[in-house]
Amino acid sequence: AENLSKTYQNAGRTLTVLDNISFSIEEGATAAIVGPSGSGKTTLLGLCAGLDRASSGIVKLNDIMLNKLSEDERALLRNQYVGFIFQNFQLLPTLTALENVMVPLELRGEKNIKSRSMELLDKVGLADRGHHYPTQLSGGEQQRVSLARAFSNSPKILFADEPTGNLDAETSEKVVKLIFDLNREAGTTLVLVTHDMELAAMTQRTIRIKGGKLVDGGAQV
Ligand code: ATP
Repeated sequence: AENLSKTYQNAGRTLTVLDNISFSIEEGATAAIVGPSGSGKTTLLGLCAGLDRASSGIVKLNDIMLNKLSEDERALLRNQYVGFIFQNFQLLPTLTALENVMVPLELRGEKNIKSRSMELLDKVGLADRGHHYPTQLSGGEQQRVSLARAFSNSPKILFADEPTGNLDAETSEKVVKLIFDLNREAGTTLVLVTHDMELAAMTQRTIRIKGGKLVDGGAQV
């Protein structure tokens, strides 16, 4: 991220949510973005993942400049390279757990989608919940389905927004293990937003923001 800013126009006033943020995360590394509530962490993660567009500045994933891509190109890039775990899971309510995991594979036009999705559900300990709809799953189970979905396109980089928020200690431990296994086994770069300082301490770098400004953990790029 290079001189990244995000502003919103609200009732004729400009609200600066992110102010000139620069940092870089090496491929295969793990990093946590921390800061008080409302400091801009989710917004920053969304810009880095190409879910949203910066008002100014540059986001580069390897050599791909996200700012230069059209909406469709960004969607394609997300499907090819990026996994995203949302704070509120964002599973599709009309699809079963299994179908939710199948979506990214279908979009990529891959083969053996069903059996591969079953394997992913098995990996997160939910082999017997494939036919459940999101409303029939607990919060922790939904979080694990969301994890299986994020893993399904073998992402080069995984963005996770408070992956352990609202989970009990045991489920939280399982989720953390799955995420870090992905980093160790597949070399997936991890970028986590968290309020959990123990989780942040498990990563190689902590990027701290406050009031939309970077206060620690940036690097000259
Ligand atoms: P939390 O830890 O509570 O999840 P956060 O650090 O992730 O917070 P963001 O969700 O990135 O914070 O929000 C940063 C600021 O941007 C907040 O003050 C929020 O109200 C504001 N904001 C976010 N989205 C919009 C929007 N679409 N329009 C206007 N303001 C917005």
